[in-house]
Amino acid sequence: MQLLMLGVGSSAGTPMLGCDCDTCTSTDTRNNRTRCSSVITLDNGKVILIDTGPDLRLQSLRAGLTHLDAVLYTHTHADHIHGIDDLRAFCQIQRAQIPLYGSHETVAHISGKFGYTLREPSNFWDLPVLKANAVDGPFNLFGQTIIPIPLKHGNSDIYGYRVGDIAYLTDVSLIPESSLLLLQGLKVLLLDCLRPTAHYTHINLEQSLEYAGLIKAKSTYLIHMTHQLEYVALSAQLPDNVFVGYDGLKVSAT
Ligand SMILES: [Zn+2]
Ligand SMILES: [Zn+2]
Ligand SMILES: [Zn+2]
Repeated sequence: MQLLMLGVGSSAGTPMLGCDCDTCTSTDTRNNRTRCSSVITLDNGKVILIDTGPDLRLQSLRAGLTHLDAVLYTHTHADHIHGIDDLRAFCQIQRAQIPLYGSHETVAHISGKFGYTLREPSNFWDLPVLKANAVDGPFNLFGQTIIPIPLKHGNSDIYGYRVGDIAYLTDVSLIPESSLLLLQGLKVLLLDCLRPTAHYTHINLEQSLEYAGLIKAKSTYLIHMTHQLEYVALSAQLPDNVFVGYDGLKVSAT
């Protein structure tokens, strides 16, 4: 099983419009962060996208991604969902409806704001042809168990996901005890790490490292970072098994 980080940026992306700080003006491409999304390829070749951020089209072009079998949604903030229309290209190529999975709240939001994307397959492929499925516990997708991981994101209840020995936890301010129990024996953990200073709806660097130490995945990769975290400087201060994620980084859990 493989995971490709399509984007590891926060909602503003890096470089941030109008900013000339060291990270935003860096020539190191690992400081170029599009909005947060990853894609997992199962051993049977099925491709599962996590979230559809506003950079989805460019991310897909960059990664040579031309096939998708399903989308898992973590929550409905703009930086995780507003690229939903770009799924149209995959429906057109595949001539198939793409299933989406998320919490009841996420599915209700998609139905309310992006209802035009929820269509049954016909001869018309100029719009996305998607089917939204609400999940509230582990489910089977293409022979693989997918475990939604309940997380707190400020006042919101959102999902992370565990797929085999990979877990994806973005936009988290607190991981409940019961969810920590679902995160044992991980090979790869992707973990929110917004910035050095505290934030109401996200864990900061110190809290990310605390959780990484608690969860003890074989490797932890920090994601959803703002421009306040510079790749080289941050890498130098991390424990051995914690790494700074970057757009285009591919990790394997086999
Ligand atoms: Zn976000
Ligand atoms: Zn900046
Ligand atoms: Zn969010």
